[in-house]
Amino acid sequence: MAVKAAVKTRSKKKPKAKAKAKTGSRSARRTRSKATAAAGEMEKFREQLLAEQARLEEELREIERRAARADESDRANELSSYDDHPADLASETFEREKDLAIGESVEHMLHKVISALEKIDRGTYGRCDACGKSIKRARLKALPFATLCLGCQDRLEN
Ligand SMILES: [Zn+2]
Repeated sequence: MAVKAAVKTRSKKKPKAKAKAKTGSRSARRTRSKATAAAGEMEKFREQLLAEQARLEEELREIERRAARADESDRANELSSYDDHPADLASETFEREKDLAIGESVEHMLHKVISALEKIDRGTYGRCDACGKSIKRARLKALPFATLCLGCQDRLEN
């Protein structure tokens, strides 16, 4: 009876041994959390990119809607005379050209975002498309869709 009780007490005390093991496991835990941070960071980039993709797609839809509305008003205007509102027509043309330019840059941007998402899936995210070196983290944080490192980007622009 007394022995049983002793065993019970001892097994109850077991968790206290944790304190001793703590020092040993701390470095292991640090390595693990570092790996998780990298994976978590990748998820953050993915989320950022997905949000950006949604935003750009919505922008494209809005431009398309505007273009469709403009076409409609064109058709309506063809019935009346254009000469009545030359200023309106000029500004309308300007707006449309602006939309076309915006649409092009939005599409270009969307392409970059989608290719960055594909790179995350392929596990090549953060690597420069031109030289293959890794793109600086700070650059990725500012421009998660960057496909070139700063050096290659500069070379391309100049
Ligand atoms: Zn590069």
